[in-house]
Amino acid sequence: MHASARNGRPRVDAVRPTLLLVALIGSLPSAAFATQAAAGQNAWFGLSLPPGLQPHTPPAIIGDRGPVPAIVPSGEEGHRELEGARIRQDLEDIVAFSRESREVREVGDGQLWGRITGLASGGRTVAWASEQFRWAGIQEVSLQAFDQAADVSLWLPLRWEVRLIGDPMFGAGSQDVVFETAMPLSPSEIEGGSLTAPVVFVGTASPAELVHIDVRGKVAVQHVTPQAHTVFERTPTVPRAQDLMSRGAIAVLTVIDQPGNNRARDFNNCGGPCFNLGGRDGLFLERVMDGAAGAGTLDKLRVRISLQTERRSGLRAMNGIGIIRGSESDENIVLNAHADGWFDAAGDNADGLAVLFALARHFAQPENRPARTLVFVASAGHHTPGMNGPRNFVAMNPELAESSVLVINIEHVAQRNFSPARSLFDDGYREYIADSGEAPIVAGVTNRSPFLEDLFRRGVERYGTNFVSGVSTMASGEGGGYRSLGVPIVTTMQAPPLYHTSGEVLETISTPGLERMARFLAFFVREVDRAPLNRIDP
Ligand SMILES: [Zn+2]
Repeated sequence: MHASARNGRPRVDAVRPTLLLVALIGSLPSAAFATQAAAGQNAWFGLSLPPGLQPHTPPAIIGDRGPVPAIVPSGEEGHRELEGARIRQDLEDIVAFSRESREVREVGDGQLWGRITGLASGGRTVAWASEQFRWAGIQEVSLQAFDQAADVSLWLPLRWEVRLIGDPMFGAGSQDVVFETAMPLSPSEIEGGSLTAPVVFVGTASPAELVHIDVRGKVAVQHVTPQAHTVFERTPTVPRAQDLMSRGAIAVLTVIDQPGNNRARDFNNCGGPCFNLGGRDGLFLERVMDGAAGAGTLDKLRVRISLQTERRSGLRAMNGIGIIRGSESDENIVLNAHADGWFDAAGDNADGLAVLFALARHFAQPENRPARTLVFVASAGHHTPGMNGPRNFVAMNPELAESSVLVINIEHVAQRNFSPARSLFDDGYREYIADSGEAPIVAGVTNRSPFLEDLFRRGVERYGTNFVSGVSTMASGEGGGYRSLGVPIVTTMQAPPLYHTSGEVLETISTPGLERMARFLAFFVREVDRAPLNRIDP
């Protein structure tokens, strides 16, 4: 979608004799690069160019084995509304809102897309979600609009480019390379729109590394290897980027060493112009720096970075709400899934939202009618500043808020599990591969209720859900919006590495995993619904 970037990249991978390729694998990179640079024959030290960005394409190997089928306990066979294939239809419809956002270039040139709260894509998703509640058989359905808080704005990058500047000193025919996975981070700005500067590699940018490195006037390249989703890497990554800026770097490129080659929107607020680079782009840049170091030309290696942004304020958004009135009680249980997300966002949080609809279909059936009221919230989410969906739900529905006894936040629930594969590309990239299970799911129970914890233990036994083995009181950014209710918040949440990246596409979601979670949550809600209040909140 960004023609200039594509045109800027040399199309054909550098030609390289097979012998050199063989020599590269398993040898020390710096030695190999030094040899090639001395030969002076191959573009970019003989490295293969990175593969570019492939939107809507899985960043890992997804073969034809697995996932493990869902377990259907006896007596639950009739719950067809909870079957994976049915839920997947909704998943695909939700992801389609994101794809449309990219097609119509909702943001600038379409390099960023998603279901963005405050923009049309977010509004359409929530409006469609409320229709799902209706089609599920819920009578009481509403759309509740709210305004962005007055004192904040949404930073949006409209168009950008990170370009490695080619020169024959890096091998004959070394042309500019545009890193298509470069992703500017909020609230980056570049005065005058662009900058050109030499790069300096800083490793993980720890103080012990930086004591040896002068970053002044340079673009610092730091490396982070997420073990799970990038939330867990915000510290130390963001403070270290801030440290780099305070030491005089003029921009920071953070190489996120993860599956495939994706844009990743995380690690904001770094104190200057900051961009993430995807796995293959980052690896290429690091290998080029190694090659240039070996050839004595590293101080000549430069990048040109351009960026145009805008700030949007005065935005409106909506929550979609469906209410199934209880047969015996005015107390209610809130079931929440956020509708917004960056890029395709199949895992964050199209899967959770699709599971929410399955539960709406289930409990809207007369034979499954709950004793307590169930409030389904397709939330505007928590990614847009000043537009927290749950917080606005609480503020706008004082009666429901007053009678709530529990919040269940369904978030990132059915992504497949990916592990490093053994295969290595000739550039040293370690590919990832899906296995037969889903990524681990954390079960957060804010009040540590033994009854609620026990339901999660039984869930594993009954449905094979991959909940991690220990307890947690975690409530995510989304669940946190409900804290003012003063009731327990239960969160089911995976933390897979593709979170907030363009690689989190439909194919990464497990269809049996959707069913596993839907069947488990139907069981969970049923048990909670029957339980006295002092067991839910002792
Ligand atoms: Zn989320």
